[in-house]
Amino acid sequence: MTIKTANLGFPRIGKHRELKFALEAYWAGKSDRTTLLDVAAKLRADHWKLQKDSGIDIIPSNDFSLYDHVLDTAVMVGAVPAAYGWTYEKSGAQVELDTYFAMARGATGRAYTHENHADCGHNHEHEYGVPALEMTKWFDTNYHYMVPEFTRDQTFAFTANKPLDMFMEAETQGIHTRPVILGPVTFLKLGKTEGEFSPLDLLERLLPVYVRLLAELSAAGADWVQIDEPALVLDLTEAERQAYHRAYTALKTLVPNLNIMLATYFGSIGDNLSTVLSLPVDGLHIDLVRAPKQLETVLQNRPDNLVLSLGVIDGRNVWRSDLEKLLDRLEPVIAQVGPDKIQIAPSCSLLHVPIDLELETELDQDIKSWLAFATQKLAELDITGRALVSGRATVTHALAASSASAAGRRTSPKVHDPEVKARLATMSPALTSRKGGFQQRKALQEQKLDLPLFPTTTIGSFPQTSEVRKARSAFGKGEISDADYDAFLKSETETAIRWQEEIGLDVLVHGEFERNDMVQYFGEQLTGFTFTRHAWVQSYGSRYVRPPIIFGDVSRPAPMTVKWWHYAQSLTDRPVKGMLTGPVTILNWSFVRDDVARSTVCYQIGFAIRDEVSDLEKAGATMIQIDEAALREGLPLRHADWKTYLQWAVESFRLCSTGVSDDTQIHTHMCYSEFNQIIDSIAAMDADVISIETSRSKMELLEAFQTYQYPNEIGPGVYDIHSPRIPDVSEMVTLMTLARQRIGDGQLWVNPDCGLKTRKWDEVKPALVNMVEAARELRLAALA
Ligand code: GLN
Ligand code: ZN
Repeated sequence: MTIKTANLGFPRIGKHRELKFALEAYWAGKSDRTTLLDVAAKLRADHWKLQKDSGIDIIPSNDFSLYDHVLDTAVMVGAVPAAYGWTYEKSGAQVELDTYFAMARGATGRAYTHENHADCGHNHEHEYGVPALEMTKWFDTNYHYMVPEFTRDQTFAFTANKPLDMFMEAETQGIHTRPVILGPVTFLKLGKTEGEFSPLDLLERLLPVYVRLLAELSAAGADWVQIDEPALVLDLTEAERQAYHRAYTALKTLVPNLNIMLATYFGSIGDNLSTVLSLPVDGLHIDLVRAPKQLETVLQNRPDNLVLSLGVIDGRNVWRSDLEKLLDRLEPVIAQVGPDKIQIAPSCSLLHVPIDLELETELDQDIKSWLAFATQKLAELDITGRALVSGRATVTHALAASSASAAGRRTSPKVHDPEVKARLATMSPALTSRKGGFQQRKALQEQKLDLPLFPTTTIGSFPQTSEVRKARSAFGKGEISDADYDAFLKSETETAIRWQEEIGLDVLVHGEFERNDMVQYFGEQLTGFTFTRHAWVQSYGSRYVRPPIIFGDVSRPAPMTVKWWHYAQSLTDRPVKGMLTGPVTILNWSFVRDDVARSTVCYQIGFAIRDEVSDLEKAGATMIQIDEAALREGLPLRHADWKTYLQWAVESFRLCSTGVSDDTQIHTHMCYSEFNQIIDSIAAMDADVISIETSRSKMELLEAFQTYQYPNEIGPGVYDIHSPRIPDVSEMVTLMTLARQRIGDGQLWVNPDCGLKTRKWDEVKPALVNMVEAARELRLAALA
């Protein structure tokens, strides 16, 4: 026995997005079940072979999913909510594929396919049929899982044994795998309950299903299973820790022959370590990229026969490793622990990185030489393994290449811009505060802007119609000229401005027709960013994204939005908001360089946006909105880390937003508005106006602002833009009336929940006409 290389999971989507196209064809009725399942099987076979050819010793199975692995688990244990029409008694053990997809996407109906909002990520109520399960972020990744739902009288039943099927499928291809399953405690903890009880109360009912699953795997010849329990890196209660004891004692006692590799990732086990080390498991995977320091404590406290899986290749980011440095770290550990007790692995599943760097033929050669995607990461793992087993001399060439790449990146002028660094050194409190306090600014802004009570506005984007998307793609392919594209965008913008004037909105927007995406549009104009052609990662289901890669110091060579704002403002006397994406959101939706702190990158982007704000102001903008949709979702997994994050996140926002004069009005927008725990940070951002999503919670989310006595202005969303439904006047008045019970009239704005890019004009038009009418009625009511 000697050191082994192990992989925890491979991306499912296919190098050429095969899974997406197969799923969408199936959903559209253009292909059948067999065709879809064949594509899926072929992807699995290809990926197993690729891992084997890469020299990986321990290859996972059941990491594949048609849609989502949490949904797979829910279906496997029979946690199918009644609405989807499946019960064990009625339907037998088989949960049909279409039931599975109904849970993922809602039952068939026109509203479902594109209902998931591009930016906010979470999904939404529907008008027809059965809605999909809720969706939310998988820990702190940008992958979204389907949230299992549990009732108080929840029962579980073992349906199909997908892990076993996958294991056997790989066996027939001559590949002996280590099946991956989502652990019972994390699974329950990720779910939501109907009524006041903890999902962990259901553990005893769930465990028999897991026992049977493991017993069947063991009987079929599996010797190890990887059980993912990423919840072990969260703050846990004593009851939750106890649940781990009960779960793993039961599994080990009842299936003693199957070895368990307990996988933790996305952070440090921290104060859960004594719990973890007392569990009767055979191996422990720890994330040493996110939490390198935990190695020391784990080594000191580990039981002698525990196999350690060291997660040393970054599964969350796209950078190539410095392998010589890594070997320097690993060699003493192996000397201490003994080679037969060590596995080396990526920090987590490779689900979160793109598949193959080789497809990127247009990337800058230097930048490309600093990157590693899933395929390249497996090669790194193999080289590291070989160096550890047979000596560095057996892989001299590969190690030299790795060192050369690391050295190149450390010194490249593409990465390091002395001017940006010098500017960062000028950070001072004066750069991050407005000149006057809010009340003083408010008076000046009122004078200058002369807005009515309950001013009406929208969040920025108007429908990205198929014509807009077609024009953009034609322009991208060089099929239409710069001038024609420009003229097209101008005419869209003009139509939007005229229409907003006509219906009587008070504060207008230009519509964002020129933007592909709220981060990419800016990244493409900033230095230090690069973009890929094929580097897709799964966001949810069949929706994949290509996050920008921030590789170097960030600056803004030229204005990015002034031209469009200026054009829009030239068409009207009403104020048009300048529209920007904030530094924290740009950071959180990108792959970020790992050679400096995230806060440093965020400040750099902050300076760049500050320059844009300043140019907009110089051009005459009286209002500038800086969206921070992702500020809240960037919160660290551990509560103890929140303070530091919020400190630099708020600081970055203030850096970009405070360079203006007091009579310039700064707006911000945030989608998800559960702000109770961070309301003081929201207040510390000191935006003059914040618009938030509140309509679906019936203004309950405003409570935080009320309790806190938030002094600045607020636009609580009155129109759920995630749904095609058109809200009527009275409904919006009712919502605003609820808002008025919590917030003073002089502080309130009237606006939708979010941008309107995913809606159709024939939905947006009547909704906004009603919204303007609602504001009029509110003004009358306020006078009375
Ligand atoms: N201004 C953006 C828009 O309207 C904001 C979107 C968002 O924050 N998700 O589309
Ligand atoms: Zn939003």
